[in-house]
Amino acid sequence: MLTFYCPECWSEIIGLETHCPVCGFELAQDQALSFEEKLLRSLEHPVPERRYLAIQLLGQLGSQAALPGLEKLLDNEVDDIYVLREVLEALSKIQGSRSRELLQKGTEHPFPLIRQLAERLLENRPAEKSGVN
Ligand SMILES: [Zn+2]
Repeated sequence: MLTFYCPECWSEIIGLETHCPVCGFELAQDQALSFEEKLLRSLEHPVPERRYLAIQLLGQLGSQAALPGLEKLLDNEVDDIYVLREVLEALSKIQGSRSRELLQKGTEHPFPLIRQLAERLLENRPAEKSGVN
């Protein structure tokens, strides 16, 4: 069974609620957006915890559509090392040459911790399957 999350507050939604039991957000109005689109929207959410969760879930989905947003975070996120770490972990789960390039870019990051993580993830990355990108 799929787990749903409120797109406003990211509470877990169990059953067929029409409104989020935590924040009251009307869930039906948001159904036009796919789960992936909602996550993409949350990459720039002002609350860091929601950004972390969106980055993690997009990584688990192997979302190719997330790559431009993840690149933007990698380029522009200068003071939140946790976001940067989540971005690299997500990139390591997404197939294809573009996500590999972005991990490569991470190895040139100003933060040593980020460079080291990017290098380790690149080393552990399985060989690309042919036909992806
Ligand atoms: Zn909610």
